[in-house]
Amino acid sequence: PHIPLPPDMYGEGRKNSRGVNLTINSQLEPLLEKVRHYDSQQWTGGPMVANKLEADPALKQTVVSPFDHRQTVGTVQWANAAQTQAALDAAVDAFPGWNATDVSERAAIVRKIGDLLEEHMPELMALCCREAGKQLSDGVAEVREAVDFCRYYANRAEQLFGQTETLPGPTGESNELYLTGRGPFVAISPWNFPVAIFMGQIMAAVVSGNTVVAKPAEQTSLVACRCVELMYQAGLPKAVLQLLPGDGPTVGQVLTADSRVTGVAFTGSTETAQVINRALAARDNAPLAALVAETGGQNAMIVDSTALPEQVVADVVESSFTSAGQRCSALRVLFLQEDIADKVIEILAGAMQELELGDPRELTTDVGPVIDADAKAGLLAHVEKFRAKGRIIAEGKLPAGAEHGHFVVPVAIALDDMNELEREQFGPILHIVRWKATELDTVINKINAAGYGLTMGIHSRNEGFAEEIDRKVRIGNVYVNRNIIGAVVGVQPFGGMGLSGTGPKAGGPHYLLRFATERTRTINT
Ligand code: GLU
Repeated sequence: PHIPLPPDMYGEGRKNSRGVNLTINSQLEPLLEKVRHYDSQQWTGGPMVANKLEADPALKQTVVSPFDHRQTVGTVQWANAAQTQAALDAAVDAFPGWNATDVSERAAIVRKIGDLLEEHMPELMALCCREAGKQLSDGVAEVREAVDFCRYYANRAEQLFGQTETLPGPTGESNELYLTGRGPFVAISPWNFPVAIFMGQIMAAVVSGNTVVAKPAEQTSLVACRCVELMYQAGLPKAVLQLLPGDGPTVGQVLTADSRVTGVAFTGSTETAQVINRALAARDNAPLAALVAETGGQNAMIVDSTALPEQVVADVVESSFTSAGQRCSALRVLFLQEDIADKVIEILAGAMQELELGDPRELTTDVGPVIDADAKAGLLAHVEKFRAKGRIIAEGKLPAGAEHGHFVVPVAIALDDMNELEREQFGPILHIVRWKATELDTVINKINAAGYGLTMGIHSRNEGFAEEIDRKVRIGNVYVNRNIIGAVVGVQPFGGMGLSGTGPKAGGPHYLLRFATERTRTINT
């Protein structure tokens, strides 16, 4: 069915943010020079709360790079309990005033924030590399996505909140429908998109009239602090957005248990989303809060025997190993039809041998580190479990000096059945299952039965094949004959169903609706 959208949905003359082509030297060199300027910079950050309070010296953290623990990135002060309460108090007090501002005023600030992020791309890229271990190309994409979120949500908010809909009614009665902010929101963001998702959640909430208390992932607090400084610089009032770097028990759990919170935007694991959902529901006399959760996946790609093996391999490598597999959209289970499986695996094994692991600031690096020691240990335990069963089909190689960072080589593991996977493996690990031509429905049923529904790929030159699968699966983002990562704002609205999230889709026309509440006004004239 056609979803009616206004023709100027993307705003007048709207285009996505300016990109940088890293294969063109005239674009690459000036950017690299600016990024390198931040090579040894040390940043500091801490809670950004409207009413300043004493910090707790015991909660000061030193931040080191995931690719080399000997390199420090700076220090960050985590929030304590008093600061968490103060932030909530200020968010509650500031809400009515902010919600009463004209949406065009809020949108103007959000657009200004987008412009400032774009201007500061080199510094934010350097932070993404040094604090989160992201590659340069990921850094460009990350900042662009954040800029796109600012512009897209600013445009959309003006359409949604800028007008009152007049509804039919009997003579002498006027009926109006309009949208307004919900109240204080909590934004809990992940380390894998420390700029894009962090900004996307906050921009959606504030442009819709809400105030926000944000808790960034512990691993990427510094880049979050820097983004908040830029948001204040653009004119976002301090009580409208406050930042609490810190851990789950001191910050996240206190925020989601507070009876004044009206909504939570969360991106992270399915388990944590469930914990948040329960915490919100357990509050006495609290508003029935909106939860916008974007969680994990067990993303599959189905390849039939008509597919082009070389293209399949290129798209698999990109989908499984870009960002060291640390995207919730990444490919985890590749279903290869028997007749093509050997050929694809042979090319894939060769391609995996060629992947360079290393310092994400180097252009020659294909795969950077995983985020931290726990992530590495979990991934390696999974690989070793399957190695013991003789299931490793292909493997990359570790670079010299790898012991100084959290490196995990790309691995392909053979599975007899997708059911062998207990949980999402958030890293460069691909599982491969072979299927026979008669088993397509079984494969589809397995994918649906896993309960996740985030991304999926289909590779085939047989037209009806993709259509049939698309009709039968319960998946939020389906990609045919291409890779399955890197959804673009306004182009591929992103988000899953089932265990993968609540929707609405980020970067899509309906996202802001969950950050708003509807009101109807009837006047007997
Ligand atoms: N939107 C990202 C993509 O399409 C993934 C977001 C995530 O990992 O949370 O690759």
